[in-house]
Amino acid sequence: VSQTWESPENLGVVLNFAKFRAFLAEEVERFGGEVWLGCRYTGHSHANGETIVEFKQLSDGQSVKVSTKVLVDATGFARAIMYEKENDKPEFLSGTGIEYLIEVEPEVYDKYANDLIFFLGDKWMPKGYSWIFPMEQNRLKVGAGRIFLDPKTVKNLEPLKKYIDLLIDEYLKSKNYTIIDKHGSTLKYSQGLQDIYCQDNIIAIGDTVSTVNFLGGEGIRHGMDGAEIAGKYIQKYLDGKISDFRDYETEMHRKFDQKWHISERLAVRKYIDDVNDVLTDKTIDYLKYMKTEDVMDILFYYKFEKISRGLGGYLSRKIKGFIRKLGG
Ligand SMILES: Cc1cc2nc3c(=O)[nH]c(=O)nc-3n(C[C@H](O)[C@H](O)[C@H](O)COP(=O)(O)OP(=O)(O)OC[C@H]3O[C@@H](n4cnc5c(N)ncnc54)[C@H](O)[C@@H]3O)c2cc1C
Repeated sequence: VSQTWESPENLGVVLNFAKFRAFLAEEVERFGGEVWLGCRYTGHSHANGETIVEFKQLSDGQSVKVSTKVLVDATGFARAIMYEKENDKPEFLSGTGIEYLIEVEPEVYDKYANDLIFFLGDKWMPKGYSWIFPMEQNRLKVGAGRIFLDPKTVKNLEPLKKYIDLLIDEYLKSKNYTIIDKHGSTLKYSQGLQDIYCQDNIIAIGDTVSTVNFLGGEGIRHGMDGAEIAGKYIQKYLDGKISDFRDYETEMHRKFDQKWHISERLAVRKYIDDVNDVLTDKTIDYLKYMKTEDVMDILFYYKFEKISRGLGGYLSRKIKGFIRKLGG
């Protein structure tokens, strides 16, 4: 089954994550901050009303101590500050993915230069999905991600690389490509958004508090939205207007709970419960009657109410199709 939605207008951009991170680092410096790379947070302690944070420099193993009024846990799925030991962490829904940046023949690139392509179903990526996005002239991002399930319960899982090769060889049919970069990472999402958002003068943002949407694995925009909310409360804390970050936690739940709870339920149905692509096929069959804007609203803005609103149109088309068939 293949379904295409088109728009005469640009509906978004494909982000170059490396350039984006470099931009953010420059912004920190522009606002008077310092960026230290190659340092690992190893612990913190409170003494005389101060928080002392300890880092290890990866180059020479030296320890560096910094004193701070507010400590932000932005260590992603590691949640390195909020959980001291691995054993302290609760169960998470986990996912893992890898993405290649490849350079392909101009004729291959031109075919896909304006498309975002998602591959669903067991053939392309069991328990997940794979994708091809255009990055820049002759360069495509090709990736695959899936939910992590206990290998004892799921047999015959092939390595993710196999599914990326499948996209390149069978879909793109590129004979002469070069791999420019390979990267991969992990998602750990707290079902029911039960993360630790704050503790004394520590506040957590981004994947550390599951701002990543587990249905699509999209987390950059949402991490930034959450960080903007955190920034507001950090300023209030530094100005002495609040003495803890509990209101931050409340506002984050207000912003994310409803949409994220529906997304995680759909993710469990799609990535864990769907057998033989029954649900996947039904979903595509349903979405194919929808307008591009509505599909974008559902997939990228989680406006799930559009699904039920579309039901009337879907059913009436199905019934009309059925009557037509009866009429021969
Ligand atoms: C394969 C894959 C593809 C994805 N594609 C997309 C996409 O197309 N669009 C999208 O929006 N999202 C995507 N995501 C999700 C997105 O990457 C995350 O949601 C986002 O990066 C979260 O940002 P963050 O800053 O919270 O955490 P991260 O980006 O994970 O940053 C955390 C940082 O903390 C560092 N760190 C961890 N522990 C320590 C420590 N002890 N000391 C110092 N530093 C530490 C890490 O090295 C890392 O640099 C993808 C995820 C994966 C796995």
